[in-house]
Amino acid sequence: MPLRSDWSEAGCVIARAADVLADPWVLVILRELFSGRSRFDELRDATGAADSVLARRLRTMTDAGLIRHAESGGYALTNAGERTLPILHAYAGFTRAVEPPSDGGLRISCTRCGTEAVSADWCPTCAAPLDAESTTWMRPSMGEPFPVVGGGPR
Ligand SMILES: [Zn+2]
Repeated sequence: MPLRSDWSEAGCVIARAADVLADPWVLVILRELFSGRSRFDELRDATGAADSVLARRLRTMTDAGLIRHAESGGYALTNAGERTLPILHAYAGFTRAVEPPSDGGLRISCTRCGTEAVSADWCPTCAAPLDAESTTWMRPSMGEPFPVVGGGPR
């Protein structure tokens, strides 16, 4: 049986998503886009990716419909890209549960009511979806909490 390397046409919906998303570079690029970084140099500096690595992932993410070229010259999340937010939250929750980081790691809260998230996708207090319009992140490396940045017009 040949080794499988392309899951984009797989019958399993998890495997199809993993074809693009199961790449640490893609996940950290998404993290930085949600954190408000959009230009190539900002993404390179924040992720530590080599230019060639970053360029290849940005092309893959553009082809997959997760990001688009923004009028500002950088990159912006598409609606499909915004839908990856709970996936990033699930990764963060998994790490906190299995191997809690000493600095607390990424903290996720509801922008509407301030409650800290206990799930990847819903506020336990006001039941708002933890989407790009109602999610606040606090990253130890970035200081103050900030609302995540989606792909809407700005
Ligand atoms: Zn809430």
